[in-house]
Amino acid sequence: MLIVMKKQASAEEVRAVCEHIESLGLRPHPLPGAQRTAIGITGNQSTINQGTFEELSGVAEVIRVTKPYKLVSRDVKEDDTVIYFPGTNASIGGKNLAIMAGPCSIETREQAFAVAEQVAAAGAQFFRGGAYKPRTSPYAFQGLGEEALKIMVEIRDAFGLRIVTEALDHESLELVEKYADVIQIGARNMQNYTLLREAGRTRKPVLLKRGMASTLEELLMAAEYIMSEGNYQVILCERGIRTFVDHTRNTLDLSIVPAVQRLSHLPIIVDPSHGTGKRNKVVPLARAAVAVGADGLIIEVHHQPDKALSDGAQSIYPQQFAEMVGEVRQIARILHRDVPDGIQVEEVATLAKSK
Ligand code: PEP
Ligand code: MN
Repeated sequence: MLIVMKKQASAEEVRAVCEHIESLGLRPHPLPGAQRTAIGITGNQSTINQGTFEELSGVAEVIRVTKPYKLVSRDVKEDDTVIYFPGTNASIGGKNLAIMAGPCSIETREQAFAVAEQVAAAGAQFFRGGAYKPRTSPYAFQGLGEEALKIMVEIRDAFGLRIVTEALDHESLELVEKYADVIQIGARNMQNYTLLREAGRTRKPVLLKRGMASTLEELLMAAEYIMSEGNYQVILCERGIRTFVDHTRNTLDLSIVPAVQRLSHLPIIVDPSHGTGKRNKVVPLARAAVAVGADGLIIEVHHQPDKALSDGAQSIYPQQFAEMVGEVRQIARILHRDVPDGIQVEEVATLAKSK
């Protein structure tokens, strides 16, 4: 059920409707939009009397949402969700594209800094780096854990880049929430409903990667799990799905971008690195992703990919990344969007002034 408030409804009226929802043992999700606030209701709604809500002050209409996903749906929130990072010019889902880049795994402090410095100079606003790695083999490098998170905090301090990193389970989620700016839930965990709920109880944006055999509806339902716990800052990510082809690691399903945008207000970014698995295909697919309307890119970059401890074959060189940013900026402008020059951080500017 969805309660649409009148355009001129006051904050008190919105609060009173939320309290009424809670008094019925249900959960209200107020979602302010440009035109009006809508309040999604979750919980067992079998006994709700629609008419009672219509009588409450400030209520314009009461709508039954028949789709299985509710809070992620455009029916509930017409305007695109834009996620801001206070104190910076970085955002995800608005006019500006979000550019995330970095190595698959944080291997050493030197490696992380070498890559971060170059992706920052090329115009990335976010630094990605795995601290906890979901590897196919239990004998493969599993990540440096908390040590990697601390290295990424140093990178944020040094370059202003906001940090994106994956949480694998309950324990790593607590640490990732503490150190990072965006919590990544990987493809293998897209249907780990306990983890999704836990991520929904954090107050950091969540980057939700599409499972490698998941449908659009399953992806949206996974996002719904996070939102149903009150975290509305969800970013979807297409990263390729399993098909019969063997010229790429996965098949990057770019058609999901406009499909998501039709159904949901959530931003969607594209990962052409895992989507193709091959360095020579990353940049062409990154261009295509921006052309199809993606809200951003997440790209694996390594200064010495031959020596990488994970995903070296799909990691592009910093120089290739820099050229790619220039190209996607031009494509973005054709579509009346843009790629900012790089991260601008107010705190750093203030710090610099005070020195
Ligand atoms: C990653 O981003 O390094 C990763 C493991 O991604 P995915 O979950 O899409 O495989
Ligand atoms: Mn990887």
